[in-house]
Amino acid sequence: MRLILLGPPGAGKGTQAQRLTASHGLVQLSTGDMLRAAVKAGTATGLKAKAVMDRGELVSDEIVVGIIAERIDQPDCRKGFILDGFPRTTKQAEALDKMLAERKLKLDAVIEMKVDDSALVERITGRFTCAKCGAGYHDTFKQPKTPGVCDVCGSTEFSRRADDKAETVVPRLKAYHEQTAPLLPYYNGRGILRQVDGMAAMDEVTRQIEGVLAAL
Ligand code: AMP
Repeated sequence: MRLILLGPPGAGKGTQAQRLTASHGLVQLSTGDMLRAAVKAGTATGLKAKAVMDRGELVSDEIVVGIIAERIDQPDCRKGFILDGFPRTTKQAEALDKMLAERKLKLDAVIEMKVDDSALVERITGRFTCAKCGAGYHDTFKQPKTPGVCDVCGSTEFSRRADDKAETVVPRLKAYHEQTAPLLPYYNGRGILRQVDGMAAMDEVTRQIEGVLAAL
């Protein structure tokens, strides 16, 4: 199965992709995670991407298309994958179409996670992760059970994304509405767009996504 999770930053794409990884054995392909790893490792791609990401703008289509093209040929992607944060522009969607056609693969569904902009600022600025295992938390919605200690691995170190600041959220939402939202009619026209209520509780969103997958 090959899926795209589409939605604004903070919609819960990463969380739901992780759950699908666990339940369906699909690989999560998050261009945001890959770019952050490249920044951390100080690669040439990371050096190019860092300033753009810090401004909340989109990295060039050429860079992200290159990253995905390389990644989908890895053996672990054979069973299927969930694209999280890619494609984000019409150019990227067209490049993905070409990549899949060349490999005689097809997309099964594009799942839009609909969330009101007003909810996204609080969702994004409050989130943090365990620096050791990556478990996700939130200042308001999901604090660790023991304050300062990760529920999953017991680590006491946490980190916040450099671009999860209030001033960066606005350009990120702008980029979503201007450059990514046009993908909704693009995929709707093909009959593969499905919608779930991203405002609902996490488990309910998972239930709705499972419903979409069961109907495929
Ligand atoms: P994300 O983790 O998906 O919120 O992505 C974080 C940042 O990485 C974005 O604000 C962009 O700067 C960059 N990025 C991630 N995926 C893409 C993409 N498909 N196209 C362009 N830039 C991206």
